[in-house]
Amino acid sequence: MSDVTAIYVHVPFCVRKCAYCDFYSIDDLSLKRAFVKALLSEIAMCKDRRAIVDTIYFGGGTPSLLLPGQIQEILTAIGENFTVSKGCETTLEVNPGTVNADYFGKIQDSGINRLNIGVQSFDDERLDFMGRIHSAAVARQALQQARDTGFDNLGLDLIYGLPGDTEGAWVKDLDSALVFQPEHLSCYMLTYEPGTPMHRLVEQGAITPLDDGSVAGLFKLTSTFLEGHGYLHYEISNFAAGVSFQSRHNQKYWNHAPYLGFGPSAHSFENGTRFWNHADVCRYTSDLGAGRLPVAETETLANDQILMEMIMLGLRTSMGVDLTKFDCISNQGFLKMFDAVVTDCEAKAWGRVVNQRFFLTLDGRLFLDTIVSAFVDIILGQ
Ligand code: SF4
Repeated sequence: MSDVTAIYVHVPFCVRKCAYCDFYSIDDLSLKRAFVKALLSEIAMCKDRRAIVDTIYFGGGTPSLLLPGQIQEILTAIGENFTVSKGCETTLEVNPGTVNADYFGKIQDSGINRLNIGVQSFDDERLDFMGRIHSAAVARQALQQARDTGFDNLGLDLIYGLPGDTEGAWVKDLDSALVFQPEHLSCYMLTYEPGTPMHRLVEQGAITPLDDGSVAGLFKLTSTFLEGHGYLHYEISNFAAGVSFQSRHNQKYWNHAPYLGFGPSAHSFENGTRFWNHADVCRYTSDLGAGRLPVAETETLANDQILMEMIMLGLRTSMGVDLTKFDCISNQGFLKMFDAVVTDCEAKAWGRVVNQRFFLTLDGRLFLDTIVSAFVDIILGQ
């Protein structure tokens, strides 16, 4: 394991599945205790005191379904098996429908110093449509309780681009979020993932996705509105109230930094190799019960894959692709290799090269997939 790493803990439980969600989670909460026991074994089996952990992220699923005592146990196990740095960014994803003031106090005592609250909307009709378990009032209450507890690094997730969505309705949601002055905002465009109830509704013709033009308009509106309120649009869906509030954990994924994932379906990455666990709680607990790591698959990234990922991930961020880093890995220089694509992007005002970085403008980000494909075609055609 590399010297500095991130730890991700996947908590695979939800009270109920939201209509749009394709993350791995189940609603059989009776398996929670067995899951935590297995998770503690997995952490111990991966023990490496040389590894310095500077970010820990509890995602899911619904991590706030864990009892504060269970969160404490997990953090203690991480501390016993790895070297956790002072000031480690330790985030818990929270579903507003699962918490209360007492809960926030206890998880803060156990070492959680950053919250990501899945509000999604402050409108009950939108929440119902998405199949969320909480109302807007409950979301507001949770945010207030988190603030009253003293959490000073608070993130909020919101979803836009619902069928029939309008600029007015979306700005109302953004305004409601800003009342709580969140340090971080993730604004996700609704997507219709195959296998989800929402996708089935589209296939049955029961709902019509918002047209591309309106979605693009909402994307640009989100950026200009939040930048106008002092937020940095530092990744395609993410905004921070200052550089120090950008998610340190997520930046590791975007920068190909090493990370270790624990829990069913969790991914890990180190030294150019990615591996991931079975997306099945029962398989996960039985493997660990038998003293085996629950790894489903391992993939060693070829040079071309690393270059493609550097472009795909880099173009999502305001920092763009680091050309010096790219040139070290590729045989040819970035600007020589992609001269035609870069020139085309610059001519359309979609992208720019500044200080050895190539990044997309706001207009360019609207065509992210097309631009990435143009780069990928060149890499694959080599
Ligand atoms: S609470 Fe989160 S993880 Fe669970 S189903 Fe809803 S969106 Fe997915």
